[in-house]
Amino acid sequence: MTRDNISTKPNIIKNIKSILEFYQAIGFERLPINPPESPHTPLSKRDNPPKSLFIKGGLEGDFKGGNEGFEKGGHGGMKETALKALRKEIGDCERCKLSKGRTHIVFGEGDPDARLMFIGEAPGKEEDLQARPFVGDAGMLLTRLIDKMGLKRSDVYIANIVKCRPHLNRDPEMDEIEQCRGFIERQIEIIQPEIIMSLGRISTQTLIGNMKLKISITRGNFFDYKGIPLMPTFHPAYLIRNPKDKWLTWSDAQKVIEKLKTKD
Ligand code: URA
Repeated sequence: MTRDNISTKPNIIKNIKSILEFYQAIGFERLPINPPESPHTPLSKRDNPPKSLFIKGGLEGDFKGGNEGFEKGGHGGMKETALKALRKEIGDCERCKLSKGRTHIVFGEGDPDARLMFIGEAPGKEEDLQARPFVGDAGMLLTRLIDKMGLKRSDVYIANIVKCRPHLNRDPEMDEIEQCRGFIERQIEIIQPEIIMSLGRISTQTLIGNMKLKISITRGNFFDYKGIPLMPTFHPAYLIRNPKDKWLTWSDAQKVIEKLKTKD
């Protein structure tokens, strides 16, 4: 062993220890690492040459700073077909009690070949009426965040953990999440985004698989969802109530932008 090895080993052990303590503090009993599975491996498979996204910037609005855009590839036809087939499979769903109070199922929308996927918790009133995710007040804030990231809504894919509106926007219950989670898992599997941003506690807990996680502690740190980096951040509805925390979500979004750039 060289002298360098000897001097850095205690540091490595210290770092590992602090990482383990961090995961323990946020409620993990084991490390949140899943073995890579072939359908979920990130998109090194995109065959087509990357095409540039547009550029947007500006300091005005909610999220300070803007992004210069990043590149994406595409082979969305098959993915679009697979998503349509999944929507058909969901049908006029009555798998859980949320079906009784809903107007529409809100499946999700966006680019089937999106590099970035946003996942919320459940449709609200406007979403239920329009059958589209994030189109109410929280949706307007999410749209502004996407815009500040140098993207359009149509460049990303937006969906929810549960597809039907819970009564008066209460939190979805465990049995409802369990009935529906297979569908968001399949959407992710089809789209194979390079990065997922989970919006709020329920989405983050469900995707990471730990219902004890606190969003205030997990946000801002990349987690692993079946080989895909997942960045938890605050739910836009929380940010409407707590605008002082918007900068934290913007800093989370910047980490996502940086990671996407490294994958270009
Ligand atoms: N909140 C969510 O979690 N999802 C929506 O689609 C709208 C509001």
